[in-house]
Amino acid sequence: MNAPLPRTLKTPADLMTAGLISPAQAEALVAVAAKYAIGISPAFQEIMAEPAVARQFMPTPEELRTIPAERSDPIGDHAHAPVKGIVHRYPDRVLLMPTLACAVYCRFCFRRETVGDKGLSREELDAAVSYIRANTGIWEVILTGGDPLVLSARRLREIVTALNDIEHLKILRIHTRVPVAAPEMIDDALIDVLKHSTKTVYVGVHCNHPAELTSNAKAAIARLANAGIPLLAQTVLLKDVNDNTEILTALFRALVACRVRPYYLHQLDLAPGTSHFRVPLERGQALVAALRGQLSGIALPTYIFDIPGGAGKVPATNSYISPEGDGSYLVRDNAGEIHTYRPCD
Ligand SMILES: *Cc1c(COP(=O)(O)O)cnc(C)c1O
Ligand code: SF4
Repeated sequence: MNAPLPRTLKTPADLMTAGLISPAQAEALVAVAAKYAIGISPAFQEIMAEPAVARQFMPTPEELRTIPAERSDPIGDHAHAPVKGIVHRYPDRVLLMPTLACAVYCRFCFRRETVGDKGLSREELDAAVSYIRANTGIWEVILTGGDPLVLSARRLREIVTALNDIEHLKILRIHTRVPVAAPEMIDDALIDVLKHSTKTVYVGVHCNHPAELTSNAKAAIARLANAGIPLLAQTVLLKDVNDNTEILTALFRALVACRVRPYYLHQLDLAPGTSHFRVPLERGQALVAALRGQLSGIALPTYIFDIPGGAGKVPATNSYISPEGDGSYLVRDNAGEIHTYRPCD
């Protein structure tokens, strides 16, 4: 008989059984669990002793505090969804969200009001692919969700095959946390599926702290890199997780050493119940300025800001964002329109 497989912790009772919280704490988390999905993968259970890991995945009652500036659809996905599962905000690329499930549920997730819900049915996926086929300006599809790499190899292969037929589509980018959160899922079957794509496949790995890069995670990343897949990293700037130059330096250097190019450092979106994770923009800018002086250019991501409401992403630099002095900012989008950002209301 094999030993029972370790499994993902999904409820306050699971967390209690695993010895991570007391019965009283579990009781206090019932309301959090009713609102937001919980998931701590076996790989991350092994590194929960690291406070910067625990903070990202352990639910807390602080999540029940939503400030007025926070909203359920912080970056305006709904306003740009022509069909279910597609977000089309920029002319040359779309997001395709086949599933809303993830290997872990990050407590600061920008789509926390939808992650964990049901993904696309077969018919809905067909309609989404038809939309991509009909819009010849779409050069790149970004598979996101949720986490597309939690899909079975069979299901992923169907998506890859459907996209292979679309002539104008050249790039397939996959945004995922699986290489660090569930490295065992980056197996031969999955690599085969990615190789089956006739498009150029990029994988963007969401990674926020050097402790996430365990030896198993590094091996999973190496399997992707050895398959010839260019790798990018996305990092979310998080209070008391990675908001200092030492940790960011260690993280970005470790990623580069794993053949992963740091791509974006995200200012945390205004998702509900996440204010305890938010780093003020000025502090983020100061951190990035300090890194610029000491880090190799290949290790330095763009500090990026997604304008609330759906106007898109801009670099979080002073040429796009100007503080008003009262805690609010004026933000210029890529079309030159000015938006007000009030993170503290
Ligand atoms: C973030 C995002 C993208 C990808 O933007 P890049 O700057 O190309 O990484 C594409 N579409 C939508 C709707 C997005 O929110
Ligand atoms: S893996 Fe991504 S989509 Fe899933 S909970 Fe974390 S941030 Fe959200």
